[in-house]
Amino acid sequence: MANPTTPARPGMTPTANEQDNDATGIGKTVPQQNAHLDLIPLGHVDPMVLSVAAANIQAVLGLDTDIAGNRPRPAYAYSSSRRQYNAVSILKNLALEEEGAPLKLGITPYDLCIPILTYVYGESQLGGRAAVVSINRLVDQQSQERTFDRIAKICVHEVGHVFGLEHCWESGCLMRFSKQLEQLDQLPLHFCSACEYEIARGLKRLLKNSIQAE
Ligand SMILES: [Zn+2]
Ligand SMILES: [Zn+2]
Repeated sequence: MANPTTPARPGMTPTANEQDNDATGIGKTVPQQNAHLDLIPLGHVDPMVLSVAAANIQAVLGLDTDIAGNRPRPAYAYSSSRRQYNAVSILKNLALEEEGAPLKLGITPYDLCIPILTYVYGESQLGGRAAVVSINRLVDQQSQERTFDRIAKICVHEVGHVFGLEHCWESGCLMRFSKQLEQLDQLPLHFCSACEYEIARGLKRLLKNSIQAE
């Protein structure tokens, strides 16, 4: 992402690519290229929100992020009884796409739910290829900075699940589950060392698969 509106935050953990040189010793044969993700607005999303999300995904996860053109409201996922959008339907739809990057992150202004929960900030395919985030409940009317911070955290967290990471109990880890915004606001915008190791492994798998697919 060139020229992001909000740069990567200071104090951020090294990206997974930088980790290639550390003492973990995993996969020294990884080529110097980045894995890709498509960030897909489903309905109208403020371009600044898209830039912030893309910049943070790039910085924290080491994933090159392309911002796709605006898509229409995901009407196929609308539940008239709940007046919300079924996140699982959106994930299935995104995962079917053959064009573009191997990973897909939908971002939408509409409120999302899944059958067993009244709402979700985001939802993802564990170890799959798609995730979706709703900014609907993340907005802080008093603070645009806090709104951006929440959106960045949820986007990176959901992509973490796509990399196969489950929830983490470490208090200083972005993979910790946040039921409420207060909990989300307490989380750092980086992973604990164990989760970071898994992210690095996930990136290597992704690169290997995309090279084989060429
Ligand atoms: Zn989660
Ligand atoms: Zn963790």
